[in-house]
Amino acid sequence: VSSCQPCCRRPYGEGQRVTMTSQKQNDPRIVIISGYSGCGKGTVISRLMEKYGNYAFSVSMTTRDPRDNEIDGVHYHFVTNERFEKMISEAGFLEYAGYTDNYYGTPAAFVHENLAAGRDVLLDIEVQGAMQIREKIPEAILIFVSTPTAAELENRLVSRGTETPARVSKRLKRAVEESTEIWRYDHFVINDTVEEAADMINGIIREGAAAPLPSREFMETFTKELIEINERREREGK
Ligand code: 5GP
Repeated sequence: VSSCQPCCRRPYGEGQRVTMTSQKQNDPRIVIISGYSGCGKGTVISRLMEKYGNYAFSVSMTTRDPRDNEIDGVHYHFVTNERFEKMISEAGFLEYAGYTDNYYGTPAAFVHENLAAGRDVLLDIEVQGAMQIREKIPEAILIFVSTPTAAELENRLVSRGTETPARVSKRLKRAVEESTEIWRYDHFVINDTVEEAADMINGIIREGAAAPLPSREFMETFTKELIEINERREREGK
């Protein structure tokens, strides 16, 4: 097993599974926060960082267009397809994935540098990327954030007002797939209020608290309701 970066104190193998027995409670961790588009995880992450110190947020690279309120280098590094593919060829990503017609990826150097500096690194990434990291870095903590109900997810996505109805529909379709992948995560947090969700996530990371996955019944109901919402939107021509 070799270190993937000289600055990294842990033996991450590129593309190989490494069992870590020496992970200590207070070692800096990679924390993956996934969740449906529109579930409010971005706001929860901001609150978490503001309220509790020593977190670093990994700014992803993406080929999608910036939204009106988004700042290059803060919310994302917005790049062309060409630039993204060059970064892939240079093995510059810890993980990357395609999501609704665009590329998204986690630049590796930032993550390694911050872990080496003793900070827990937060990654807001989707399921495929989360699984790539789980393979490479088993001690990463995987948290899935959800709205309380599927109807609330549609409400938040629509009222956010950042996507066209067609894009909202694409994201809700993707949410159906994501809802069947939750069992792969370690923890499940319902974002009912931002404050509670941020506190809960901090407890998971810093105090080893558990936020158990929901029952099979909860997950099946959520998926079923999402499918019904998608069918209704299709009938409405959205
Ligand atoms: P959005 O376009 O709404 O900002 O993000 C769409 C999805 O891409 C979200 O689920 C978000 O978590 C995910 N995402 C953002 N950055 C990355 C990344 O670097 N890698 C992966 N795999 N997913 C990402």
